[in-house]
Amino acid sequence: MRKILIIGMDGLQMSQINKLNMPNLLKFQNQGFSFKNHHSSFPTVTRTNVASIVSGVNPGTHGIFGNNMVFREYNKNKVLPVMYPEMKKIYESGKNIVLTPTLSEIAESNNLSLMVLNSGTSGNALIQNLGVLNNKNITFHRDIPVQDNQINTKWPKQDIPDINSNNHIIEIIENLDSNDLSDISIIWLDEPDKSQHNCGIDSNESITALKNNDKIFKKILDVIDQNQFTPYIFLVSDHGYSKIKKTIDITRELAYDFPGYLFAENGGSFLVYSKENKIFDPILINEIISKSWAGVIITGNNKINYNGIHNYDLLYSSGIRNPDLLVSMNWNKSDESENTKGELFSTNLQKDKGNHGSISPQEINCSLIINGPEINNGNKTFLPSGNIDILPTILHLLNIKIPTYIEGRVLTEIFERCENNDYDILKLPLTTKTPSGEYMQELQISLYKNYKYLDYGYVEK
Ligand SMILES: [Zn+2]
Repeated sequence: MRKILIIGMDGLQMSQINKLNMPNLLKFQNQGFSFKNHHSSFPTVTRTNVASIVSGVNPGTHGIFGNNMVFREYNKNKVLPVMYPEMKKIYESGKNIVLTPTLSEIAESNNLSLMVLNSGTSGNALIQNLGVLNNKNITFHRDIPVQDNQINTKWPKQDIPDINSNNHIIEIIENLDSNDLSDISIIWLDEPDKSQHNCGIDSNESITALKNNDKIFKKILDVIDQNQFTPYIFLVSDHGYSKIKKTIDITRELAYDFPGYLFAENGGSFLVYSKENKIFDPILINEIISKSWAGVIITGNNKINYNGIHNYDLLYSSGIRNPDLLVSMNWNKSDESENTKGELFSTNLQKDKGNHGSISPQEINCSLIINGPEINNGNKTFLPSGNIDILPTILHLLNIKIPTYIEGRVLTEIFERCENNDYDILKLPLTTKTPSGEYMQELQISLYKNYKYLDYGYVEK
């Protein structure tokens, strides 16, 4: 059986793969199959998208709506960070962390081994292998306890750019016995995300991080060659990026005046939850619309009737963790012809640094390249694809039956020479009058077969 290797580079945009900074990745791209119209799940944050990648379903179904969110069925009065200690407590209370089975559980039930090496957050690493909570499969992460049958390693101090942690991952891989290499491996690098947040997208630190990722990528390929594996390799990223235009204090702007609600900040977006499940006050929606920094508002609650804002059901299935409101911060593009660069208002970090989380095209556009045997290598597609398509494609490659609840599709274009390149674009505008004036919001969706991909959303007011 072929092995599967997922290499994640947090926040990497396809436009960053160039000869100067990432020659090895460029070579891999030229030899592999590239998805030029790949979509992150909204909110465009890491833990939401890692959950989409390993579950094959949208956030309404997998239930991870942000890096900070309310797990209503566990504690409806508190915003929790999606990190290992908090998630472990949810698990110990008998509740699920991700609401559908994930790659680690599917691997286990098919007698396949899975290994995760991750320099990102503990919440991200945990979602990639929920099996660590009952000592199944293996995860190497600085904040996750060492499991049975695992070599203990000492993680170096994190820095910006985080060269040390990512080089440590290579040391672990190089020291593994070839028999220890699992059927499915996920290697997740916290760069260029970390440097782009702290220093800015085009900063020297971010460029150094890209160059180091490229070196690490080459070393991973070398280890594979030495062991004579020919795995299917998925190069993925979770989301794209924007430059911060201005930082907005959500507590001062909204939370003080609306004590009956919880606001979960997620950089380029925030989630709103009513504390007592009472009737949602439209005055709060009017207030958000009146702010120049607020972008598209989507309600996740069917009971909220407010003309002029879209309902989550229009996009994807809703679930028990749907927030009452998903609010994207406002954004703009730097260049009308490009979907890769732009600015946004942010709930945290500093002006001119990088962030993500919004419904902008530059954050929704992210990376996917697949390479391996029988794949139509050296080719590319402009058909829409998304992070939710990665799991069903992996299951297809492993000859595992795809469960019916899966919402993503098998990316069959990797096998076909003459794929039909037709798909539809749907624009969904809504207009209303509010106390602060005319308000228009529009979502754009790409439709391929029966699959929907949210391209972006914007507002005029
Ligand atoms: Zn980030």
